[in-house]
Amino acid sequence: MGDEVTVFGSFKRNTVNLEKILVRSVVRSVERNPRCPVCGKRMESAGKGQGFRCKRCKTHKAERELEPLKRDLEEGFYEVPPVARRHISKPLVRMREDAEKFGFKIFPSR
Ligand SMILES: [Zn+2]
Repeated sequence: MGDEVTVFGSFKRNTVNLEKILVRSVVRSVERNPRCPVCGKRMESAGKGQGFRCKRCKTHKAERELEPLKRDLEEGFYEVPPVARRHISKPLVRMREDAEKFGFKIFPSR
């Protein structure tokens, strides 16, 4: 599972002409084996459906842990600089209303 994006642009002669990216969702955490409450080490699976254990401390935990990820990316519309844009490309400024209707921000924001 990763970030979900929609790209806008054209495809011609085996080249993608990227114009906009809508970042729909950003992954902000990752599931990992839990840490042992005693020694702090990552626990290992105790078998399918049997949770996790620390061999050394004999501790047990039922669930994986969600570890937060540091991300610099935000959900929203991004577009390439004007110089890289084709003339027929609709600038994001003119999509602002649409974007806001769907609850997306536009970058760079003003
Ligand atoms: Zn331990």
